[in-house]
Amino acid sequence: MIREKMREALSRCTECGQCEQFCSIFLTMGEHSAQQKLKIIGELLEGRELTDEEIDSVFLCTKCEACQEVCPQEIPTIEIFDWARHTIQSKYGFRNKKQQILVQNILHYGNPFGETKSRLLDASAPPEKIVHQGEDIPPSSTLLHLGCMLAYRFADMRDDLLEIFNLLEIDYTLLEEEKCCGYFIWNTGDHHSAEKVIQENARIFDPYDRIICACAGCYTFFKQNYPHPEKFYHNIEIISEKLKELNLAPLMKKGEHHCVIFHDSCHLTRPHGIIEPPREVLRQIGYELEEFPLSGKEGLCCGADGGMRIVNPELALTMGNARLNQLKEHQDLPFLTLCPFCIFNFRECVSEEEPWKIGSLYQYIKEYLQKAL
Ligand code: SF4
Ligand code: SF4
Repeated sequence: MIREKMREALSRCTECGQCEQFCSIFLTMGEHSAQQKLKIIGELLEGRELTDEEIDSVFLCTKCEACQEVCPQEIPTIEIFDWARHTIQSKYGFRNKKQQILVQNILHYGNPFGETKSRLLDASAPPEKIVHQGEDIPPSSTLLHLGCMLAYRFADMRDDLLEIFNLLEIDYTLLEEEKCCGYFIWNTGDHHSAEKVIQENARIFDPYDRIICACAGCYTFFKQNYPHPEKFYHNIEIISEKLKELNLAPLMKKGEHHCVIFHDSCHLTRPHGIIEPPREVLRQIGYELEEFPLSGKEGLCCGADGGMRIVNPELALTMGNARLNQLKEHQDLPFLTLCPFCIFNFRECVSEEEPWKIGSLYQYIKEYLQKAL
């Protein structure tokens, strides 16, 4: 966004405070709302030096988009925050060593963890579905993009998803050398390095007509920052459609009630309106939902995203606990979500003594299909 447009957008803020009502950071700490950030960014825009506290405040944000969703002045807060992070990174450098290492790992190894082994090591994908480096002709025009969290940290979730695709006979290709989407880098403000990753991936994606994403964060980044956003889908959209076509019956016996909690990922709800598909799937396979007091577009963030785990992991956990506490009386129910990053943060929030079982929807869909088909 050019500076004049930015000034105009900032000048529209009436300080009404609406953006505070659904901001997980503000609700947890009583500060760092979008309204407060915009004031700091106004100073940055006019060339004033920022203090360390002001810079931290800009980065203390999960980019959940709640402020943008509710702002009556339609201020594009996320675009403004991205500009500010980039400007700060260019002017003052990385916020901490962890950000720097993360960027280096992605540029050198293609993932934020510095893993050197293949993403598909031990994966349950049929070998004919895997495209190896240097092979030009993909077996399918649909690419299944796993993302770094599923590939390296949640092998069970990855294999459940692959099994669902196999059971539903959804055609796909997997890249042996799949690389990070660049979202982690983008959130540090180092847009120059992120652009390199985008260009490289866009070239690799070129032969595919459809790219199905397993990670909500990758999905949003692809949709918002890559060429041909119309090619990208989240897997739950595809799975939900396929289940509707099959019209299978739930396996629960009449009178049986099985209930789960479902936590919406911010990256699916506010930017893309993906709220009903996971609920439709759960209902179709026979589960009832215990909804949060605030869910869908109003749902609170898990606390992990937007680079929060890197700049302030303690605060990420405080926010995660605040979300869990909203349904504390139901902690005996399975707590499901679709985003590996939400699972990662929530699992760290929960102590061994607590009965919470944080997991993915994929396990439930897979187990249902194995019996129903
Ligand atoms: S909701 Fe919009 S106008 Fe109101 S304080 Fe927040 S950013 Fe400003
Ligand atoms: S994007 Fe989310 S966390 Fe960041 S300021 Fe807006 S509401 Fe708060």
